[in-house]
Amino acid sequence: MIDTHAHLDALDDAGEAVGRAGAAGIDRIVTIGTGISSCRATLDIAAAHAGVFAALGIDPHGAAGATGGELEELRELLRHPKAVAVGETGLDYHHGADRCPQQRRLFEAQLALALELCKPVVVHTRSANGDTEALLRRHDGTVVMHCFSEPELLRPGLEHGWYFSFAGNVTYPKAQSLRAAAAEVPADRILVETDSPFLAPQPVRGRRNEPAFIRHTVEVLASARSEDLDELAARIDANATAALGLP
Ligand SMILES: [Zn+2]
Repeated sequence: MIDTHAHLDALDDAGEAVGRAGAAGIDRIVTIGTGISSCRATLDIAAAHAGVFAALGIDPHGAAGATGGELEELRELLRHPKAVAVGETGLDYHHGADRCPQQRRLFEAQLALALELCKPVVVHTRSANGDTEALLRRHDGTVVMHCFSEPELLRPGLEHGWYFSFAGNVTYPKAQSLRAAAAEVPADRILVETDSPFLAPQPVRGRRNEPAFIRHTVEVLASARSEDLDELAARIDANATAALGLP
């Protein structure tokens, strides 16, 4: 199995967490940088573990302070051989309603960077569906919608060929509409992630999340889609390889 989105730099025992994931059959992890110093820590972790790869970006929470210099630094960091994707980046009008224009500029700059470097983009969106869709509609590269939680973006996303990555919140009792959306995602577009340390899946809800817990989410997805667990896990593995250009 693969965890396509974890914040290993936010765990104080990242190396041990990678080890526990390996023991649980998770042999590849994409760890996510959310700002320049987080990206550096993320690359260090990826460089230290064979099965760990990095996505590097400046998330919307960093939009207020991001400068042209930071984007230059990000471009340099993305040249690292373990850097597979740009992100996470995107729009969050729930937490950043006072800086929407800055968020849009930063997102657009990273979309351009992804095209320039021929890398996929890992997108975060919250309470910003219209603007997210409008910016991604014009984007000509691979899109991974991380922690997919907005069923109303399913239709446009399917039209544009996005990948949809489901996190632990799809396992929560009240997430029926999200599970219904998961059932509609085509077999070649579905991904799974923990978003560790956040959103631990239902059986371990409330605990700090980590990649070893991803199996719970794959089980719920397999049940929602009436698919065999191992077949779905293998399919997700292949989709992640294609979407993120993993070895
Ligand atoms: Zn994340």
